Amino acid sequence: PPSILPKVANALTEEIESLLPALLPSQACFQTRENVRERVEALLPSRGPTTFPDGTRLRVFGSSANNFGNDAADLDMCVTFPDSSPLPAGSSGEMIEALASLLEANGMEDVVARPTARIPIVLFREPGTGLDCDISVENPLALRNTQLLHEYSRVDPRVRALAYIVKHWARARKINNASGGTLSSYAYILMVLHFLQTAAAAVPSTPDTPCYAPLVPNLQLLPPDWKGNEMDRREQMQGQRQLPRQLVTHPLEGMDVDTYFYTEPPSEEQGQPNGQRSLLREYAARNKASVGELLVAFFWYYSWEFDYRDLVLSVRLGGAMKKERKAEEDGWAVNSRLAIEDPFETWYNVTHFLKEGKHRHIRQEFARAYALCVEEAMGEGATEAGAEG
Ligand code: ATP
Ligand code: MG
Repeated sequence: PPSILPKVANALTEEIESLLPALLPSQACFQTRENVRERVEALLPSRGPTTFPDGTRLRVFGSSANNFGNDAADLDMCVTFPDSSPLPAGSSGEMIEALASLLEANGMEDVVARPTARIPIVLFREPGTGLDCDISVENPLALRNTQLLHEYSRVDPRVRALAYIVKHWARARKINNASGGTLSSYAYILMVLHFLQTAAAAVPSTPDTPCYAPLVPNLQLLPPDWKGNEMDRREQMQGQRQLPRQLVTHPLEGMDVDTYFYTEPPSEEQGQPNGQRSLLREYAARNKASVGELLVAFFWYYSWEFDYRDLVLSVRLGGAMKKERKAEEDGWAVNSRLAIEDPFETWYNVTHFLKEGKHRHIRQEFARAYALCVEEAMGEGATEAGAEG
């Protein structure tokens, strides 16, 4: 990044630290959600027209389980079936319709079924808590990407801090609404992780504190017996061939998808008294950037540095790949809009619905945010910018 604007970065770090407690989930948040999950799970019928085999479970994914959620987030759940039993009769669309009737009959509010969506889903509100919930059927890849995000969140406290602030900013600027044509929270978290894997290596950029260490490694390319060493790209790609595979069958396409990523046992830093030292934490510690510096650089990166026209953002690669290649291999349209590869469903563009107008609008929001930082640094318009958030 050109200049990380030390004065602004310091002020931002302080502001972020004072804002964060209000953005993080409350103590009660998880217990409330677990209670709702249990209550709804108990409704799954083992008799009747749509029966679910013994051992059918309801699992939580998305921000209620990925360590990037808060009390206001919806509760994303999916039905999973026991490995050994055959899938219950009927398509997931039919199961969604059956679930909708069941939820309605049991007092859930505003029940809406979308049985024909790419991922069939039923939405409702749980009256006791007022929680907005949704349920899909057999969505094992969503469970895995939730775990992947959770693992990244543990690397260093700055990962969560930056992600919460970015989500907060995107919501405040009304550009965090996938059904309205802007970006899902999932897309923003992938943008944060990509930035931390790549451009964060050059933060802070002042000549007297050169750093050049990424803040997070690429977890999908670290071997299970990783010793904490920095691996260069070639080593990682070579090592990839020996990585164990963790196959998950894609519920729609039927093929096996590799969902392996490195996970670390709970460590002392993470409040586990018998834990070991955290190799991930040590890895991240080589990057000395403050959260404020990272936020300014994040805005700068997606305003001026990331090559939207030619590159697909890929957390799986810890970098990016040419759009042309993605077009050849997976038939993606070549256009100049933001494209994000899903870490496991690599043929799937997380932002495929993004239209030109919204893409431009989102880029303008990044540029506006960075410009505010610059203005602030130059001592202009500081009060208005502050008031506007
Ligand atoms: P929020 O706090 O806004 O609810 P969230 O982390 O739950 O954030 P969502 O965007 O609601 O994020 O997505 C929930 C989950 O659905 C994600 O964890 C991911 O598994 C899946 N998901 C969401 N959007 C996409 C997408 N465009 N492509 C693939 N999977 C997605
Ligand atoms: Mg959600």
